[in-house]
Amino acid sequence: MALKWDGHTHTKFCYHGNPAESGEYVDRAIALGFERYTLSEHPPLPDRYIDDPKLMAELAMPERELPDYMAYAAVVKAQYEGRIEVAVGLEMDYLPGMTDYSDRLLAPWLEKLEDIVVSVHYLPGKGGMRCIDFTPDDFADAFLSHYGSIDSVVDAYFDAVEGAIDWAATLPRSIRRRIGHINLIRKFQQALPPMNDARIRARLEALLPRLKAAGIGLDVNVAGFRKPTCGEAYVPEWLMARCLAEGLELVYGSDAHKPAEVGADWEWFERAMTSGAGDESK
Ligand SMILES: [Zn+2]
Ligand SMILES: [Zn+2]
Repeated sequence: MALKWDGHTHTKFCYHGNPAESGEYVDRAIALGFERYTLSEHPPLPDRYIDDPKLMAELAMPERELPDYMAYAAVVKAQYEGRIEVAVGLEMDYLPGMTDYSDRLLAPWLEKLEDIVVSVHYLPGKGGMRCIDFTPDDFADAFLSHYGSIDSVVDAYFDAVEGAIDWAATLPRSIRRRIGHINLIRKFQQALPPMNDARIRARLEALLPRLKAAGIGLDVNVAGFRKPTCGEAYVPEWLMARCLAEGLELVYGSDAHKPAEVGADWEWFERAMTSGAGDESK
């Protein structure tokens, strides 16, 4: 494998995460032999995007803090120069119908950003925009009756992922762009009505030409292993094999929200990239 790289991590600017300084995370990455470490914080959201002020305060930093985050990331990058490459990034939310907000937010920072992970965390649901990854009960309340069936929720999710790829395609190619945890819709699968695996596979397969045309990779996000209701990585091994065959970039992502999570399940990723990559049946 070319580069030992953790491409999806959080910082103290995440209010559902941990107040630890990034040095604690990066020191652990160095101890584990990582060569590149991407800071990819959640960006601010439009005012009242979710109709729940308490939840909103946890989901994203206020807009006035984005310059502070960018300055902090630059300091961490400089501090570690020569020891590990710290890359400055964001985990952008795909905001259906509101990509102009994201474009305005990003405009002053495009020169400084090295990585952008684009994730779908929100879908229209009961009462407005809702989180797909908050809790199983919240998911069921937000989406099951709103869409009528779990299969329709899954379809709405993958429609949004298609929108996320199209939006990511408009970002400068000088920034490494990848789709975050593409199977996040499966986070609570074991606590929800059964999902149609064949349908999900078909929707994922259909994304490949779109990703390829736009030069966008995947965040091979292992946080799903840490969720009891998920128990799997957010990119299945068969999809990794297909991406490798198509020349799409696959970047490991711990999605660390605390220092101890840096490098989690790296061994699984390494194995899947080498041995598993030859076997598309998984
Ligand atoms: Zn987070
Ligand atoms: Zn995420």
